[in-house]
Amino acid sequence: MTTSHLDDLTTLVLAPNPSPMTLDGTNTYLLGSPGSGGVVVVDPGPDVAEHRAAIEAAAAAEDAAVAAVVFTHHHIDHAQAARWAREWGVQAFAFSPEMIRAAVSPLADGAMVAVGGVTVEAVHTPGHASDHLCLRVAQTGAVLTGDHVLGRGTTVVAWPDGDMAAYMDSLHRLARLDATVLYPGHGPPLPDPAAVVRQYIAHREEREEQVVAALTAGDDTPRAVVKRVYADVDEALHPAAERSVRAHLDKLIREERVGRVLDPSSERESYRVR
Ligand SMILES: [Zn+2]
Repeated sequence: MTTSHLDDLTTLVLAPNPSPMTLDGTNTYLLGSPGSGGVVVVDPGPDVAEHRAAIEAAAAAEDAAVAAVVFTHHHIDHAQAARWAREWGVQAFAFSPEMIRAAVSPLADGAMVAVGGVTVEAVHTPGHASDHLCLRVAQTGAVLTGDHVLGRGTTVVAWPDGDMAAYMDSLHRLARLDATVLYPGHGPPLPDPAAVVRQYIAHREEREEQVVAALTAGDDTPRAVVKRVYADVDEALHPAAERSVRAHLDKLIREERVGRVLDPSSERESYRVR
């Protein structure tokens, strides 16, 4: 089943793009109250004809038409199908329209899209991506978390667009929203938001300490740090892990806990604890 009903206002249509980064695939959400005749599509996902047909069928099953599109962020597994909004004849919204190559309107922090009997509030949560939004549904208190928090495992905060300090701040912001349930961009719903966000914060703090410990032990490049800290992770994921380590290093540099050392003769860049 690619389509499932999560609550009175929320339908999930799973996109057929599973991978190590997207888990079972991208979750496309349809938000609308029954009988309103409209739904908001959050993250249309990959530009795949069968996925589009599944979204249109799910809307039609509720006697509704797509009334607006909202993107959590610009990454292609969420926004590749941006052109569908134009073809559906509806407005599309994102925090940074210029990051998505289609006609998209800006949705600033705190702005709301009210359509189909639901009110979707934008909560700017940079970290995974600089333009990342979580979307709070006013009627239910559910929060769509995009890739800020996933249904399983942890998300990638990939330097340079990913920002670890911003990511940590955004986790604390998500905690303050007091969500009733989290609907992630990948993986299953999370019925205990407070516990999940606490785990995410603890996980990042632990990783940060592991990075500091690796530097202290003499690993002085992101690659060396990855070899030690991510020793138990599939090597295919090490390039992604290296971008995450760089994001940690950037945060630590800004906090003056770590220094970057440039050797002009070799152009070698290394890091050490200050
Ligand atoms: Zn994603």
